[in-house]
Amino acid sequence: MTGEARDDCLFCKIVAGTIPATIVRETETTVAFRDINPQAPTHVLVIPKAHHESAAALASADPALTADLLREAQAVADEDKLDSYRVVFNTGAGAGQTVFHVHAHVLGGRGLHWPPG
Ligand code: 5GP
Repeated sequence: MTGEARDDCLFCKIVAGTIPATIVRETETTVAFRDINPQAPTHVLVIPKAHHESAAALASADPALTADLLREAQAVADEDKLDSYRVVFNTGAGAGQTVFHVHAHVLGGRGLHWPPG
């Protein structure tokens, strides 16, 4: 069921502390940690502690928690002193989603091209 921790989910294991990660921020509802394969000088993933598969699923199930993620994205940018940054939610395998526990990629610290690839 959406919201409940899953034994087969990598990011639920990071929330539980059974898989290590470089955590940069934690709140009651969210965790932010550095991506293992960074695509920019700042590449942090902000996730809800509760398991939701995608941004769309999260937004339907818990709008307040969706807002928490965006607030934490800004907090990560502030801590890394970024004046501009990009937040990406890959949604679905065709868009590059590989981990099906919603995560906001916070990218910055270099020029970012538009449109993205
Ligand atoms: P997606 O492709 O689903 O949008 O993003 C998943 C992200 O998780 C990728 O950028 C990938 O590098 C990152 N990732 C995958 N496994 C791990 C891990 O074990 N630890 C951390 N910190 N990041 C991971």
